[in-house]
Amino acid sequence: MTSLFRCPVCGAPLDREERICRCPNRHSYDIAREGYTYLLPPNQKHSAAPGDDRGMAAARRDFLSKGYYAPLLNTLCCQILSLSGDFPVIWDVGCGEGYYTAGIYQALTAAGRSPRMAGTDISKSILRYAARRERGIEWAVASSYHLPAADETADVLLDCFSPLALEEFRRVLKPGGYFLYVVPGPDHLWELKQILYDRPYPNEEKETPYEGFSYRSIVPVEDVITLPCQADIHALFQMTPYYWKTPRAGAERLAARDSLTARISFRIHVFQKL
Ligand SMILES: [Zn+2]
Repeated sequence: MTSLFRCPVCGAPLDREERICRCPNRHSYDIAREGYTYLLPPNQKHSAAPGDDRGMAAARRDFLSKGYYAPLLNTLCCQILSLSGDFPVIWDVGCGEGYYTAGIYQALTAAGRSPRMAGTDISKSILRYAARRERGIEWAVASSYHLPAADETADVLLDCFSPLALEEFRRVLKPGGYFLYVVPGPDHLWELKQILYDRPYPNEEKETPYEGFSYRSIVPVEDVITLPCQADIHALFQMTPYYWKTPRAGAERLAARDSLTARISFRIHVFQKL
């Protein structure tokens, strides 16, 4: 069958067989045992193992699998169900360990839709977990800035906390296609930040228009979660940018906690390609 992916070397369509993807110009890419394809050319690889390391990938997979961020997943599913038709082509760019990608695919399928979905991430170690979540999705190690995608083929493109590659997103989306950009809301993990910092700041709430897109809506997601053990608290901490920049005293205060109740807050910025 024809893959959603294009050859990263020559841009030709890839034909997907059982264990290999091939283009007509004889470039070929193995499909790993877990089910993902490595489509990152050597010149786009900046270190030996770009992206998140394996331990953090496992921690994130375990944390998300417990459903702490299910309110965000559920809202994304509702949004994408209402924005897409019976046979949508959906890309999740910077999909991480695939919690949202797989959840959206399964929600669409359960609603009787026939989605074709691609999930890409720069990190091979994290994508191994993603590919195990859902065989019905095509997964590839690829750069968000050089997506292995044909022009104007996606109905929906999702970016959940990943870097923006707007030029690429515009190229890949069909005219009239939707771009969903998920960012943390002002009070996201406020109680966690109160433990980590003496003077925490709320996240800035921004409304940035992007060229080539019209702003459709900003969908808020607000909830409260309770983490009942230090392992989950630590896994959450590792998923945040604070993990890298918290003074030791703050990290020690958090490590002494055996439960934590915290607000979660997200904004889904919905754009439509002009
Ligand atoms: Zn090729």
